[in-house]
Amino acid sequence: MIRALLFVGPPGSGKGTQAKKLAFLADQYHLSSGDIFRAIPKDSPEGKLQSEYLSKGLLVPDEVTLQICLTYIDGLEKTFKFDRNKQLLLLDGFPRTKNQAELLKGKLDIQKVILLDVPQDEVLITRLEKRALIEGRADDAKRELLQKRFDVYKKQTAEVLSSYPKEKILPIHGDQTPLKVFHDILTGLLPLLG
Ligand code: AMP
Repeated sequence: MIRALLFVGPPGSGKGTQAKKLAFLADQYHLSSGDIFRAIPKDSPEGKLQSEYLSKGLLVPDEVTLQICLTYIDGLEKTFKFDRNKQLLLLDGFPRTKNQAELLKGKLDIQKVILLDVPQDEVLITRLEKRALIEGRADDAKRELLQKRFDVYKKQTAEVLSSYPKEKILPIHGDQTPLKVFHDILTGLLPLLG
């Protein structure tokens, strides 16, 4: 089994930022399913299909997501980029439905779920519009698409939490400066990482 930490939160909650920082400082491996999908060439048959989901703010179907992400992880191990005996996978956005979480049981041993909570959509919208300018992500630029992604999070992703026991969930107040959020995450994870 691969040991992992799962970062859960709505778009713009800071999952990627925080998981990346932690991976760098604690020598763990950051894996973002969104980055994997965006890296698939759009002119390939798979890329064409996935970019349709991404551009509508919808989730890629579970079977495809699992197949792509597990193949990717396998590749990381075969190329010695990730060592399951020494490192944790810091999962950013995967699993993202209850079904994905259940299908991954037996493959991934999720040791903690870091739940980044930002209750006001307006805070998230401001952050995502800023990110759209900096990173040029098409799915961050349109307001109606942002609303769709928030709805998908509330309806499909939040229920991922019910797959894990309460004591594994580390709730973090995400509407703070990135440094304070990082401080809270580190404090919660030190018994595991320290
Ligand atoms: P993100 O970069 O995490 O915001 O993901 C961008 C987009 O990639 C999402 O809106 C989905 O279309 C797709 N995606 C990322 N992760 C998953 C996943 N675990 N399951 C299904 N779709 C995903």
